[in-house]
Amino acid sequence: MSDLSDLYQEVILDHNRRPRNFGPLPAANRHAFGHNPLCGDQLTVFLQVEDDVIRDIRFEGSGCAISKASASLMTDAVKGRGLVETLSMFDQFHAMVTTPLDRQVDPDVLGKLTVLAGVREFPVRIKCASLAWHTLKAAITGSQLPAKTE
Ligand code: ZN
Repeated sequence: MSDLSDLYQEVILDHNRRPRNFGPLPAANRHAFGHNPLCGDQLTVFLQVEDDVIRDIRFEGSGCAISKASASLMTDAVKGRGLVETLSMFDQFHAMVTTPLDRQVDPDVLGKLTVLAGVREFPVRIKCASLAWHTLKAAITGSQLPAKTE
C-alpha cells in the first residue's frame, strides 16, 4: 500500500476513520447497491428524496479507505441538493477523476471533493473513488441493477 501514500491526505484519512452519514436510513425511499470487484469495495447508498431534493443520505458497506472516504465526502456534498444538481455533480466528479494528469483540476468546481483528484495517479483507484457516485446515480435513476464502476 506504500504507493498510495500520496493519496492519504488528511481529509481522506479523516473521512475513512470517521465516515460521515454512515449507517442505515430507515426513512429512505430510494437505495442502490454498488460493487467494485477489482478492489472488493461494496456499498449501499440510501436516499430520502422529497420534491426532487435529497433530504437525507446515508451509506453502508465495506471497502478500502478511498472508497469509504469518497462515499463519506459525497454524502456531505449532496445532502440538501436537488436531483438535477446532484447528477450534474456526478458528471463533474467523473470528469475530474478522468482528467489527464498533466492538466489542472479546478478546485472551485467540486470544493472539498477535489482531494480525490489524486486517484488519477493510480488508475485502479479511480474505480474505488467513483463507486459511491455510480451507486448514487443508480439510486436516483431507479436502476435495479447493481451499480458498476465502468
Ligand atoms: Zn477500493
